[in-house]
Amino acid sequence: MVKQQRLAAVEASPRGFGKHTNKQVQEVEGYFSTLVEECAVVIEEHRGHRLVYEFLNYPIAVFSLLLPLPRSSLLCSPSLASISGTSAATMENVAVFDSPGKGRGLKATKEFWAGDVIFSEASLSAVVFDSLAERVCHSCFRAQEKLQKCGQCKFAHYCDRTCQRAGWAEHKQECGAIKSCGKAPNENIRLVARILWRMDKEGSVVSDMQLTTLEELEDHISDMQEEEMQEFKVDIHNFLDYWPRNSKQHRIDDISHIFGVINCNGFTVSDQRGLQAVGVGLFPNLCLVNHNCWPNCTVILNHGKIELRSLGKIAEGEELMVSYVNYLNLSEERRRLLKTQYFFDCTCEHCKDHIKDDLKLGGREVDGVKPPAEQVKEATEYCFSRLEKMDNARLNGDYHEVVKICRDCIEKTEPVLADTHIYLLRMWSTLSEVQAYLQNFAEAADYARKMVEGYLKIYNPNNAALGMAAMRAGVNHWQAGEIEVGHSMVCKAYAILMVTHGPTHPITKDLEAMRMQTEMELRMFKQNEYVYHSMREAALKNKPMTMMNEPRSVEEGIKNLFHRRK
Ligand SMILES: [Zn+2]
Ligand SMILES: [Zn+2]
Ligand SMILES: [Zn+2]
Repeated sequence: MVKQQRLAAVEASPRGFGKHTNKQVQEVEGYFSTLVEECAVVIEEHRGHRLVYEFLNYPIAVFSLLLPLPRSSLLCSPSLASISGTSAATMENVAVFDSPGKGRGLKATKEFWAGDVIFSEASLSAVVFDSLAERVCHSCFRAQEKLQKCGQCKFAHYCDRTCQRAGWAEHKQECGAIKSCGKAPNENIRLVARILWRMDKEGSVVSDMQLTTLEELEDHISDMQEEEMQEFKVDIHNFLDYWPRNSKQHRIDDISHIFGVINCNGFTVSDQRGLQAVGVGLFPNLCLVNHNCWPNCTVILNHGKIELRSLGKIAEGEELMVSYVNYLNLSEERRRLLKTQYFFDCTCEHCKDHIKDDLKLGGREVDGVKPPAEQVKEATEYCFSRLEKMDNARLNGDYHEVVKICRDCIEKTEPVLADTHIYLLRMWSTLSEVQAYLQNFAEAADYARKMVEGYLKIYNPNNAALGMAAMRAGVNHWQAGEIEVGHSMVCKAYAILMVTHGPTHPITKDLEAMRMQTEMELRMFKQNEYVYHSMREAALKNKPMTMMNEPRSVEEGIKNLFHRRK
């Protein structure tokens, strides 16, 4: 009965929502002007977070020699585990409805509080990116050093026999098709084929949890531009070569529709920590969640499933929304991104009233006096011009040049620009990241703190990017031996990630371990500051520095909420 009602509601819906086009990413003006892709809140702002992980081994290894943690404490505590069990997430929590001006949307059928899982959903199908086909398991999506090849097609890679067996149902037909083609087609073609094989076997609604059929999702083919259309046609042509004669044959329109759907609704699948995008998948229910620049939900991939999590109190009947773009962008920029990539005009309060735009480009107020507008404009322009140089130096791996550019720019513009100015925030963020890489931890910590303080005034208090930034700042302070600030930042990050990622997410678990470690060190510091520092120094001296990998965050750029073809 319930299912029938849902289906009736689904049928009444005029459109899904569009995502992005697959044409070349245009030069984006504004905050993320020189990045390859613009950021979405959900996959977080990754610049630097991977670096934190590379460096983490260092202080943790050093200090765990001094203060070995009981093994069990590294696991999620039972009290935390029970929090995640509070909402047995099912699709009963949501209903499809007609959202005024937006087409279909999802609304809450009961009240939610911060950190509640509203629903979780496994992908209908997912594939590993072409570029990582030999480095990521095709079944569990973990990045691994040593993977085993499928003996048949030599294309699919797995951790072990268990993963291979688990992935066989999805791979079986693909395996035969790759073998007879002689090589694997690109990720889009592989994904469409997997989806079609699955639908041929199970029908277009593969579980009664699925609130929409794929036919009903928007493909935005008619919105595509010429260049994009060409690529699209090439994919379809190659698909037809790949699709086996003995599989069910489909109409070309139906095939194009699925290509269009994954093009605008394909969701980026990340590794277990969510720090590296490794593939793309389709999550049909998630496709029904509309955008708001100041959303009430966030979506996170946790143990292979996406979770829609509540960021605060949500009333029964309220529409559930996530943000497709980073809130750090000015309202005008967000609207432009949403229009070009997701084909709609954002009418949210924050865009309409340009909320916080003044903070993002503002001047520094000293004793209630703001600098003249002309001076702020000049400093803004100067800072903007330096960002490109900074990014280039970073891409070239010239980190000392990055430090020089950042320091110079900060010295000139910091006295004029507000501590929430988005260009200044980018300077601080990059400088702290690069200094951490160069092991100048004290300066890294200072600028990371400024970055977090700026973010706090801009972002929703439960924003995932804010939480990740606080984690980075916490680690930087810890590395710099500033254990008090370090511990408080780690706690702050932990509190945010408990909401945005939940207690069972691997990053939250890492933070839990860090929180206990820093707490112990803080206690030691408070008992005897001198002993703390001398032990720390002794440990640092005895621990040989290992070679660190080059930061990869730049080349990877910031990932979209929804996968965008390059
Ligand atoms: Zn695996
Ligand atoms: Zn195979
Ligand atoms: Zn908006």
